[in-house]
Amino acid sequence: MIKTDIVVLGGGVVGLATALRLLNSGREVMLIDPEEPGTGTSYGNAGTIAEYAVLPVGSPDIFKKIPSLLLDKKSPISIKRSEILSLAPWLLRFLYQSMPKQAAINAQAISELLFDSRKRWELLVKQIDADSILKSNGTLYFYQSKSSYEAGKKDMANRKSLGINVEMLDPSELQRLEPNLKIIEGGASFFPDGAYMSDPGKIMKLLLDEVIKKGCQFIKKGATSIERCSEGVKVVLADNSEIIAKHLVISAGAYSKKFANQVGDYVPLDVERGYHVEYDMEKPLLNRPCCSAEKGFYMSPMTGRLRVVGTVELGGLSATISQHRVDYLERGASSIFPNLGKPSRAWLGFRPSIPDSRPVISQSSKGNDIIYAFGHGHIGLTLAPITAEIVESIITKTKPPLAISAYSVQRF
Ligand SMILES: Cc1cc2nc3c(=O)[nH]c(=O)nc-3n(C[C@H](O)[C@H](O)[C@H](O)COP(=O)(O)OP(=O)(O)OC[C@H]3O[C@@H](n4cnc5c(N)ncnc54)[C@H](O)[C@@H]3O)c2cc1C
Repeated sequence: MIKTDIVVLGGGVVGLATALRLLNSGREVMLIDPEEPGTGTSYGNAGTIAEYAVLPVGSPDIFKKIPSLLLDKKSPISIKRSEILSLAPWLLRFLYQSMPKQAAINAQAISELLFDSRKRWELLVKQIDADSILKSNGTLYFYQSKSSYEAGKKDMANRKSLGINVEMLDPSELQRLEPNLKIIEGGASFFPDGAYMSDPGKIMKLLLDEVIKKGCQFIKKGATSIERCSEGVKVVLADNSEIIAKHLVISAGAYSKKFANQVGDYVPLDVERGYHVEYDMEKPLLNRPCCSAEKGFYMSPMTGRLRVVGTVELGGLSATISQHRVDYLERGASSIFPNLGKPSRAWLGFRPSIPDSRPVISQSSKGNDIIYAFGHGHIGLTLAPITAEIVESIITKTKPPLAISAYSVQRF
């Protein structure tokens, strides 16, 4: 049996940022993950540091989308019909959270957490010598028709009311920023404060290297169960070996639910599956991430490739790729860049999603020996540094950087 100060269970971006933060303050940290850290969902995302993503996924508009959600495989959101029954409890909560009053409460809580996330990442990339991978030239939402541009204005007014800096661009202004976006008739919303990573996988690798350099022990095994014992928190690994820690941080993304359950906390965590396809090319056509507002996918220029990324598929953690989701992204990309050809690869990842779009960053209901740091949905990359700060404040019982009751496990 191994004894340690802090175990971080799950080494995606949240676990890695948390481990680094704790190591920086001189704590002993052990990271456990059955896979190479940072190679799951935290690897394949759109790379945006999306301080502007203040609106929850569940909003009153979702009610109009229910028929296409259930029936149309060409819609940006789809649901695996075979999973509808098991998804029902999550879906009911999600619909409740989409009502106007709840959606407004959630937007406020999300915007508070997102505040200054770009600055936090700027500090973090400095520590790992990755400044050149974090690009600060804004983000665009583009509209392919005039009517969706007009509809977009309402969405942007909501964001502005939450403090987000956004400029509406006509098609010619858009073309000045992105000369290759020639056929966009509606225009765009431009978030000048948006930043992005031109290689999220590289950032994950550098974070891992840094935590190892700072003395973190990495154990490449999955945890099977956790329980409190007289000496602390016991983590049992897949080979039945045991670790006893004074503090356990659960940051296993979409895989975190069972661990919270094991210590008596219920969390309505489910999965929004998301996809990417990549087109290898020397100059990836765009200067910044550009999101199709109508079709709900990003095109993000990454080192040596254009990553077309997004869509939501409700339907659990199976590793099987739904070809219609990949086709959706391919069709969307070729409607804008007809000469792209076939993608070089396709990828599936699992957004850890809570119906109110707020992550769980909280001590367990029975004390701060177990800390939850998961459920970041569409914005986990963006929120990793602030999550790490909050986790540290919970462990050290010091004042957190903001009021954190909105992210508590006790809200369910
Ligand atoms: C298509 C797509 C696009 C996205 N775009 C963006 C974006 O542009 N900006 C943004 O901010 N966010 C984005 N996101 C969301 C973001 O990627 C996630 O919120 C984030 O990666 C979640 O990080 P995590 O560390 O919680 O989980 P993960 O990265 O999933 O890491 C969890 C880790 O836990 C490990 N684990 C699993 N089981 C166990 C176990 N039993 N024991 C120990 N460890 C275990 C896994 O192996 C994994 O390494 C996107 C997501 C998707 C799918």
